[in-house]
Amino acid sequence: MVVKAMFSGLKHIFKRRLTVKYPNQRLKLTERYRGRHIHDISSCTSCKLCANICPPKAITMVLLVKKPQNEEPPEKPQNEEAPKKKKREEVHPQISYELCIFCGLCVDTCPKSSLTMTHSFELSDYDRKNLVYTPEQLSEIPSEEEGRYVTVFTKSGVSHHAD
Ligand code: SF4
Ligand code: SF4
Repeated sequence: MVVKAMFSGLKHIFKRRLTVKYPNQRLKLTERYRGRHIHDISSCTSCKLCANICPPKAITMVLLVKKPQNEEPPEKPQNEEAPKKKKREEVHPQISYELCIFCGLCVDTCPKSSLTMTHSFELSDYDRKNLVYTPEQLSEIPSEEEGRYVTVFTKSGVSHHAD
């Protein structure tokens, strides 16, 4: 019995490891990996479709704290007689990563492609409040160096390389 257990352990010494030394080594993510969102404030129409479809209700529509500087002023109506349309409240998605299940439904349903997903997955934090990303935070591109993956799984094991 002891010999059998030793043999079982010994044969793995010569096999290639399938574990990686994260964070120094990282797995190559698939092209369509669903990580943290990016929100394009300028193209969003505040239609709220993303918030309505979100299964765990991770999206809350909120007002911007600070308007983006490159936002163009609204066009003046050409016909002063024309009846004024009620302006839609300018709200944008705020996402709680405490609730988000990264299903991508908000991205798929957005008619303006204002929401996209990145390869950024390192979102853990000691404070739950920091897991709520405002529209302004979502409009920033994640700081992690995406694409700098040094380890990939292959059929014959793990191979290490720098992109
Ligand atoms: S990806 Fe997250 S925020 Fe978007 S619909 Fe799914 S759970 Fe909601
Ligand atoms: S992000 Fe897209 S779906 Fe959500 S409110 Fe803006 S335009 Fe509508």
